[in-house]
Amino acid sequence: MKALVKTAPGPGGLELLDLPDPVAGPGQVVMAVRAAALCGTDVHIAHGAIAVRPPLILGHELAGVVAALGPGVSGVREGERITTETDASVCGRCAYCLAGDQHLCPARTAIGTTVDGGFAELVAIPAAGVHRLPDNVDFATGALTEPLAVAVRAVVERADVRAGEDVVVVGPGTIGLLAAQVAVARGAAVTVAGLQRHDARFRLARQLGIPRTAALDLPAERDAAARGRDGLGVDTVIESSGAPEMIEAGLRLLRKGGRLVQVGFAGGRAVPVDLDLVVNRELTLVASRGKRPTCFRIALDLVESRRVTPGPLISHRFALADWAAAFETAARPGTKVVLDIVPE
Ligand SMILES: [Zn+2]
Ligand SMILES: [Zn+2]
Repeated sequence: MKALVKTAPGPGGLELLDLPDPVAGPGQVVMAVRAAALCGTDVHIAHGAIAVRPPLILGHELAGVVAALGPGVSGVREGERITTETDASVCGRCAYCLAGDQHLCPARTAIGTTVDGGFAELVAIPAAGVHRLPDNVDFATGALTEPLAVAVRAVVERADVRAGEDVVVVGPGTIGLLAAQVAVARGAAVTVAGLQRHDARFRLARQLGIPRTAALDLPAERDAAARGRDGLGVDTVIESSGAPEMIEAGLRLLRKGGRLVQVGFAGGRAVPVDLDLVVNRELTLVASRGKRPTCFRIALDLVESRRVTPGPLISHRFALADWAAAFETAARPGTKVVLDIVPE
């Protein structure tokens, strides 16, 4: 099979190689990949900013069909259209695993970052993490189930956004616009916030059914976003940018008793937080990292019922052979790139 392999540490070292087909081990299935999306993590790995242990096939946002079943696998059929969670293995015994928080398991390994992933024609994955794709979801959209599950973790499980709440999503990237759609689906009044230079992203937000946007570097728009339904401020900020100044700006939008859910990574930068503001307003800071199996079920339900439409976020599609152009494009802000992996 053809596979895009990180063959050396540091920047670069990506090669499209012919490798032996993977075999489904006990409890595994082999997926024939049809679509795999690039995310920031893949770009950072390619640039050497996130270290992995080569050789490694990248790609953790994928969809395809079941090509083979390993020993002991039931409940999945060959030919079924599927997407997958990204856990490759967890211990199953630690306090986190027993609580359903297997994304926090210290022994966790993950598809595309610690074990071989989906930028390949075939990939062996745990059958337990497989989800059937609804009939009305194409493979490219199905590949975006993983980032949608990350948004679900933040909005549904960590923020517990309720109908009627004022929510501001800071950062109009892929996760931000997915989180905004999830919050709308929960019945919240949602504003997508960014900077003036995010104009094209604001247009995309409006296309996705989120009419309210705010450039936080325009005082009038920032003050309007900070007003909330009754002039007191907003209930919840979902911070997806990871930019220190945006985190600070997000905190200042909150009403007393409000909460900020941090889902974006700051990339190692120090983030100054006005702790007196946090204390005086009794704010809650919550972190949201990755996703749990529950988030995939909620995500697919939202897509099947068309309450969330990830499709319009896809800005570019490339064949696997054009991976170099795909990675160059994915490194530019405001893009979401999908590799179409066509069977030979
Ligand atoms: Zn990702
Ligand atoms: Zn565990």
